[in-house]
Amino acid sequence: MESRLMMSLTQKKNAARKGDAKMAQGYPKSFKNCAVCNYWGGSRQVDTFGQRVTVDSSSAKGKCLLQGGPWKGQDKQASATCNKWQAWGALK
Ligand code: SF4
Repeated sequence: MESRLMMSLTQKKNAARKGDAKMAQGYPKSFKNCAVCNYWGGSRQVDTFGQRVTVDSSSAKGKCLLQGGPWKGQDKQASATCNKWQAWGALK
């Protein structure tokens, strides 16, 4: 009985973790990751003040659109980074 209860709690924790991965993720404009980059083609929203970017989840992906860049045309996770980063034009 106790082990069944433990198993149930573990399953609930794992389910909660999986759910967390799908929660919206926000990044301040000071972050230099793909979600905040001008060349990222993923789905994202900017807040009214142009200070924060939100993506559907921390694992959201979008293509890198930088022509001639090392990741051109490849799916990049919102949290990824590279040294070609440029601030998204929607930010103020
Ligand atoms: S890989 Fe680099 S250039 Fe491409 S979207 Fe991400 S930060 Fe921007």
